[in-house]
Amino acid sequence: ATELGINTISLYSSELEKELLEKQMIRAKLSEALKNRELTVYYQPIYSLKDNRIVGFEALIRWFSKDLGAVPPDKFIPIAEETDLILEIGRFALRKSLEDMKNLGKSCFVSVNFSSKQFSSENFLNDIMDALEYYRFNPELLVVEITERTAMENPEYTSKLLEELRKKRIKIALDDFGKGYSNMEYLIDFDIDKLKIDKDFVLKMLETKRARSVVRTVIDLAHSVGATALAEGIENEETLKELREMGCEEGQGFYFMPPVPFERIKEVVERSYCE
Ligand code: C2E
Ligand code: CA
Ligand code: CA
Ligand code: CA
Repeated sequence: ATELGINTISLYSSELEKELLEKQMIRAKLSEALKNRELTVYYQPIYSLKDNRIVGFEALIRWFSKDLGAVPPDKFIPIAEETDLILEIGRFALRKSLEDMKNLGKSCFVSVNFSSKQFSSENFLNDIMDALEYYRFNPELLVVEITERTAMENPEYTSKLLEELRKKRIKIALDDFGKGYSNMEYLIDFDIDKLKIDKDFVLKMLETKRARSVVRTVIDLAHSVGATALAEGIENEETLKELREMGCEEGQGFYFMPPVPFERIKEVVERSYCE
């Protein structure tokens, strides 16, 4: 037993060490990534479930490091959030998204993810307004995605900012809905356009009744606060059918299309979508 214990400990600590090293490596390389043009933005189409037409895109950042290869955002975004790097990366993602969408020449919306640190930065609104102005982008076609968790960090501040965004006609989506501490009271105060149902629930819809009823509840909740429902993580026809029957307006997922480079979106959209 002692032997097993020792082995377990050394295994554990070497795993921990590996993780720590990886984190340090990512942090070191990430600070050069922007300058080295290793960051880009991919786009995943968002569909109207009524008629399976593309109505917009979610912008998802990608990092192709020449030293580390492709590093997924789930790995590097949290590390970037520990420093002010996220502000630079976020600014890049916003500007690149608006530039690309402008070049698309269609009236598709683009949904951009904002981290908590960006949202609470004093430049948040200014950065957005500057970018909209610079690219002469219609504010009604920009969707600001913040997570439910970010929104709940400081509800009074959130209410105020969402109101500012609304005045500018910018749209607002609450991301990862259902994963945070859903607070009904604040949902009434927040004037939001979209609730994004977290993919963890959508992926489990066919397996468990509970996941299905959580999804149904979020869709109904969205409607009762005057928002639309968007389901992420649609991977098959069955799920799509169920969501449609539940009255979910929009969706995205591998069943339709994974996130792809802008060039690919341009080809797809040639066949007159979003208009
Ligand atoms: P998210 O905002 O919840 O984005 C949805 C994630 O689900 C994306 O992962 C997308 O590729 C993935 N996905 C889409 N359809 C399916 C599907 O059918 N099945 C499954 N299993 N997954 C699907 P991705 O691109 O790896 O991004 C992960 C997370 O990284 C995002 O989650 C978001 O939190 C963060 N992120 C990505 N880009 C940005 C960004 O520009 N800024 C910030 N702050 N965060 C970002
Ligand atoms: Ca998102
Ligand atoms: Ca999400
Ligand atoms: Ca509304």
